[in-house]
Amino acid sequence: MSRTRALIAGNWKMNGLSGDAAEFEAMLSGLAARRDASGAPRADALICPPATLVFGFAERARSAQESGLPVAIGAQDCHAQAAGAHTGDLSAEMFADAGAAAVIVGHSERRAAHGEGDETVRAKASAAMRAGLAAVICLGESREEREAGRALDVILGQLAACTPDAPSGDARLETIGDALVVAYEPVWAIGTGLTPSLEDIREAHAALRRGLVSRFGEAGETIRLLYGGSVKPGNAADILSVDDVDGALVGGASLKAADF
Ligand code: PEP
Repeated sequence: MSRTRALIAGNWKMNGLSGDAAEFEAMLSGLAARRDASGAPRADALICPPATLVFGFAERARSAQESGLPVAIGAQDCHAQAAGAHTGDLSAEMFADAGAAAVIVGHSERRAAHGEGDETVRAKASAAMRAGLAAVICLGESREEREAGRALDVILGQLAACTPDAPSGDARLETIGDALVVAYEPVWAIGTGLTPSLEDIREAHAALRRGLVSRFGEAGETIRLLYGGSVKPGNAADILSVDDVDGALVGGASLKAADF
């Protein structure tokens, strides 16, 4: 991955049955149609369907990639271990085997509903890299933390605590920019229709960029920083125009090809 083109990632959450493959096909057609003046695709797409659809979608994405479409399939979570007695869980290695290229870790819904803390998120991000998947690490402040003026401290703390060291040895992840994507998702903006001001997004992304550069040196400039939280057709262009916003992580609006 690189920052030269926006990355638009869709998190389908617990939505989608095999019959929704037609919606995915419509997304591929939309992506194929949206090209810049030189004919290059305008964005890279990462679709993260429920685990049951990863294998089938990844096969279809592979053939789309062969015809020049920058689309990949991601998972929404993974276990930190590669295998073992963990009933119902799925490992990063299993998703890599199913054809995924990335996995979301640390989504606020998993932090809230499954009690996942920064240490767990970091272990899952390391597992992703171990398996050759890009880790899309989600972080963001709560409403109370923003109102208390602590938003930047909170997200910089999460960044430091959740981010593993650069991967080594996996040919698919040559650089930290291939291995890591950070999604700034204010918890209060997810699924609520509320968004921070463009200035608040700019400030958060600038702080995260500084955090990545102080952690990884110049390579920190190559890591994509996505904004997530109530991105819709009506606000996407403004949000994507903010400095250091390298793409978007989209929940609700990623379920319909026309919106996505
Ligand atoms: C999300 O769940 O990551 C998300 C950004 O959701 P929504 O776009 O629906 O706010």
